[in-house]
Amino acid sequence: MQWKKAAFYQRKGIALLCTLCPHACALTDDGEIGFCQVRRRNGKHIETATFASAVHYLDPIERKPFYHYKPGSKVLTLAAPGCNFRCLYCQNYRLSQFGRTPQALWRAEPVDPDSIVSTARKHNAAIGISYTEPSLAAELTLALAEAGQKKGIELIWKTNGFLSSYAIECLAPYLAAVNIDLKSVDNNKHYALTGAPVKPILESIAAFFEAGVWVEVSTPIIPKINANSVSLRKIAQAIYSVSKDIPWHLIRFTPAFKLQRLPPTPLDVLEKARHIACDVGLQYVYVERALGTKERNTFCPQCHYKLISREIWGMRHNALNHGKCPRCGLIIQGRW
Ligand code: SF4
Repeated sequence: MQWKKAAFYQRKGIALLCTLCPHACALTDDGEIGFCQVRRRNGKHIETATFASAVHYLDPIERKPFYHYKPGSKVLTLAAPGCNFRCLYCQNYRLSQFGRTPQALWRAEPVDPDSIVSTARKHNAAIGISYTEPSLAAELTLALAEAGQKKGIELIWKTNGFLSSYAIECLAPYLAAVNIDLKSVDNNKHYALTGAPVKPILESIAAFFEAGVWVEVSTPIIPKINANSVSLRKIAQAIYSVSKDIPWHLIRFTPAFKLQRLPPTPLDVLEKARHIACDVGLQYVYVERALGTKERNTFCPQCHYKLISREIWGMRHNALNHGKCPRCGLIIQGRW
């Protein structure tokens, strides 16, 4: 495990205040570690262990999932261990919950940004940070952006969106697209599920959108927690209040980590969620890996022409004509 000087902190009295996320850890003692377990105080500095990755995967962009960002393209995915959430259902807990559970061992290797950019360029891929919480790898993101900008390589995140507004301001200019998880808009439920309040996430969806970053939202539909009509409608309305054009991915819950006692999401609940989202007015609603390929296709919101068809893990056909529906000419929002 290699520690590097971090960029997001300020002095506050005898403490060093981490300014990266809304937990706002004030580290007073030398060696003290933040809630995320991957940032610590070292003398007059905060340092981070996240200039490292446990994976180097070349994936279809659809796997993140991104459906309106360069469909059919590839993404070279990294994962710096650590998370500022402790989601009860985390499928990646062996990486993300480093420092909190003995099953999560440190498996990451230091990253050389130039070498990652070269690999991404060779495969004509973007660079993504996913599986764990990418915002904790803020310094790595900035270094990859600096190396990638010279070569035209874009950066994307699959994130929980739990960043300070200062961090969003610093990082948004370097991100092409973010897929943000929104688990519930009920603060108590959100806190119970993740260990964090929901307001910063709602703010970050709006902030990234306003900053011009392409935003998609994902929600795991979890029985007995957020799978009822009232919860689903509130989530859909929260997304709609930012933009009706933000794609919403409904993810089937599968029992994992500390929520093994719950059943997988029933298919009729996913159907119901999709109907609610459409009723609220969201234009692009997708159901991941549960209801067949139709629910992963993109249809024109105006004339219902099939624009993009997808396999389980990738794109099959893209009929968009310079970002417009070839039948009615409607501009389809996305980064094509
Ligand atoms: S990034 Fe880590 S150390 Fe910083 S405020 Fe968030 S949880 Fe605390």
